[in-house]
Amino acid sequence: MVSMPAPRHAYVHVPFCRHRCGYCDFALVAGRDDLVDRYLTALGREVSRLDAPLVLDTLYLGGGTPSHLGADGIRRLFALFDTRLVAPAGAEVTVEANPRDVSARFVAAARACGVTRVSLGAQSLAPETLRALDRDHGPDDVRRAVGLLHEAGIDVNVDLMTAAPGQSLAAVDADLGAVAALGCRHVSVYCLTWEKGTAFESQRRRGLLAPVGDALERAMFELAIDRLAGAGYEHYEVSNFARPGHRCRHNEAYWDCRPWEAFGPSAARFDGRTRTTNHRSPTTWMTRVLAGTDPAGDVDAMTAEEAARERIVVGLRRRDGIDRAAFHSASGFELDALAAGPIARWRAQGLATDDGRRVWLTRAGLVVSDGLWADVLG
Ligand code: SF4
Repeated sequence: MVSMPAPRHAYVHVPFCRHRCGYCDFALVAGRDDLVDRYLTALGREVSRLDAPLVLDTLYLGGGTPSHLGADGIRRLFALFDTRLVAPAGAEVTVEANPRDVSARFVAAARACGVTRVSLGAQSLAPETLRALDRDHGPDDVRRAVGLLHEAGIDVNVDLMTAAPGQSLAAVDADLGAVAALGCRHVSVYCLTWEKGTAFESQRRRGLLAPVGDALERAMFELAIDRLAGAGYEHYEVSNFARPGHRCRHNEAYWDCRPWEAFGPSAARFDGRTRTTNHRSPTTWMTRVLAGTDPAGDVDAMTAEEAARERIVVGLRRRDGIDRAAFHSASGFELDALAAGPIARWRAQGLATDDGRRVWLTRAGLVVSDGLWADVLG
């Protein structure tokens, strides 16, 4: 196993939303703004566990909805990082935002804090799809937010969701066209998942909501690949599309299995082998941090081989696939010693290509990729 350098990437989880969307199972509290002060105090305390400043290539604030903190809250949040999380010029600093929160005042605060990129939870530009997804913003909020951010020179990612209840292929087509017309340099496309414990899943069980069906879901994903490629986006990871030169550097660090730091409830940090995940409950995390006890809820210490197998999965999710020599030098394992059987099978089924130096999934492989990983992880 190759020794890992100090992390140059950090994730901060901001667990607040105005409202919990029916499909969402993320670690957050909705309508509990009374907890913001306590959260910020705890976050400052957790960041202060770093005994030396971390100089970052990327910093990512996700949630929840970081923009729910508003302009003043974002300034307070960045002030906590102070000399501990340092994002110098040239670093990628991303903040997730609900389009409804993006005001001129919020954008000015984000710029002043060094934010270079905003990831907008747009999901759709069709009012009926947004209603079906239980979202609390409208299409005009998305257009206004993108305009304000671009005017301020901030890069924008738009998250788009497919397979919403009742959504047609034509509606996805219209959404893709509308998103491409916004001129954002990055688009992420996710298919709705029905998570246990969510309002959507309980309505599905009672027959009140129905998934769109596997064939339509695949057709939507393939349409996204075609439409976004036609609009000049490179499909560089299963769910991610970017204009050349505008891939998300933070996610690329995850997919390269580089070490990263993480703070906040449910945030998982990684040292190259061990993933340590904070307690999911925002209130339990706050209580533990403020009491000076360990906020970790789960510690996943992988063997070198398990880490290498995970590297295969994240590598194959990328369009570039896995370079055998780079894989060996990063993991200490030969790719074929771990996955020769599955690779040969996928090739025979037209799901993967192997030129001897590199292995990558074909378009057919990417479409069914979630079903392939058990072959590698064992
Ligand atoms: S805005 Fe995002 S994080 Fe918040 S509840 Fe909705 S889907 Fe979940």
